[in-house]
Amino acid sequence: RELPGDPLTLNQPRQVTAALWSAVTPAPVPHPQLIASSAEVAALLGISLDDLQKPEWVAALSGNRLLTGMSPFATCYGGHQFGNWAGQLGDGRAISLGELIHNDQRWELQLKGAGVTPYSRRGDGKAVLRSSIREFLCSEAMFHLGVPTTRALSLVLTGEQIWRDMFYDGNPQQEPGAIVCRVAPSFIRFGHFQLPAMRGELDLLNKLIDFTIDRDFPHLAAEPAEQRRALWFSEICITTAKLMVEWTRVGFVHGVMNTDNMSVLGLTIDYGPYGWVDNFDLNWTPNTTDAEGLRYCFGRQPAIARWNLQRLAEALGTVMTDHAILAEGLAQFEQVFTQGMNTMLAAKLGWQQWQESDVALTERLFTLLEQAEVDMTLFFRQLAELDLNAPDPASLRSSFYRDDLYHQHQPEFQQWLSDYAQRVLSEERLPEDRAARMNQVNPVYVLRNYLAQQVIDAAEQGDYQPISELLDVLRQPYTEQAGKEAYAQKRPDWARHKPGCSMLSCSS
Ligand code: AMP
Ligand code: MG
Ligand code: MG
Repeated sequence: RELPGDPLTLNQPRQVTAALWSAVTPAPVPHPQLIASSAEVAALLGISLDDLQKPEWVAALSGNRLLTGMSPFATCYGGHQFGNWAGQLGDGRAISLGELIHNDQRWELQLKGAGVTPYSRRGDGKAVLRSSIREFLCSEAMFHLGVPTTRALSLVLTGEQIWRDMFYDGNPQQEPGAIVCRVAPSFIRFGHFQLPAMRGELDLLNKLIDFTIDRDFPHLAAEPAEQRRALWFSEICITTAKLMVEWTRVGFVHGVMNTDNMSVLGLTIDYGPYGWVDNFDLNWTPNTTDAEGLRYCFGRQPAIARWNLQRLAEALGTVMTDHAILAEGLAQFEQVFTQGMNTMLAAKLGWQQWQESDVALTERLFTLLEQAEVDMTLFFRQLAELDLNAPDPASLRSSFYRDDLYHQHQPEFQQWLSDYAQRVLSEERLPEDRAARMNQVNPVYVLRNYLAQQVIDAAEQGDYQPISELLDVLRQPYTEQAGKEAYAQKRPDWARHKPGCSMLSCSS
């Protein structure tokens, strides 16, 4: 459609019907400063790190300048938030600059925090430094862990101060503004399909489905028309199931699994009040604004993903009349998830094959880890070193948070470790091999909440170096790195209840 020329009109918050996106103009910022970047993402795009630091790129990454070919837009989507249909949401502070093709791969570049769009509702379209550091670091940390995710190219300080009521206590404070340039093949979410379905804009929904399959699922292009959509939905169910297995493996809790934060490519998307499990706890959520407290906790993520897929199926069901196809896709989620969990847990525990009797053994472990408050990440690394001929809980002592709970549960751990050792020895391979295999799926370094917060505290004092230092460690999360022991410790006591270290608000 023909676009009006006035950027102020383009960016005005409003209901956008009969359209999937709006042309927008990023808001200029006073003093853009590139404070961190990802060499790996730059390489994907064919940009050298030297070029990235040049004024024209820094200007582009802060929304101050459009490079040749950039044509910025914000997209329109809805979503279920905390279980309730929320209507139009859309890219309220994300602005896509366009697509870049390098080495036959297509990447969309998107600025998060570059000013208001038609979808900003009451928001300012901006992002603060602390949440931008968290998005930048976690996107890259997840990639290096092998977990599907959107990427982050750059972190730019805008030189602007913006108002945030971090604790929702009526005392807003000024915080430095920042912009992350996110990169992914596609940022299309479940909510993109839900909104036109809910509005009865079925032609638009059909267009979006075809566009998405053509652009993001080209391997399905040759399929006959009826098959295409069925296979496509199945694939979304399968990649989502695999993502849930991966989040479980590394102890990642997203925090806001609303349908607008679910990628159709099965990528981790929208890093907000996410967190990493320190002491193993299936009920843990980092999000202090999670109304039910437990809706998006660690152990419920797979069930919520399934619920979200069901909402997507309902939306697609308005134009895909064979509902049995959609039910089949959902059934695939169950199957792939269950099988994926078994394979993943067997790998974490150093078993070659999952056996039926392992269900009881792993459930006993989860209960113990939770009751005794054991650090998830440290536990699995230390378990790899267990002396199978003389298993002793003392060798795992430093992964426990509390002396009293260690002593209290020591006999049960002794029993479990003995059963575990027997289970391992019942297989053929050598223990040395077991440790090496376990260490490939059990990271030493994860982006613990307090580590991110320490880097944020330094950055807010003007020291940005720790961001890159932390990223450097997270680049090889499965390899013990000399001199980096400080990054592989359990959460210190002081961090247990400190805001940012164990609890986070959505304010960002
Ligand atoms: P989230 O919970 O971060 O995924 O955001 C939910 C919705 O709120 C999305 O539509 C965001 O684009 C929008 N949003 C979040 N923060 C802001 C902001 N500061 N300004 C405008 N829109 C925002
Ligand atoms: Mg979001
Ligand atoms: Mg509990």
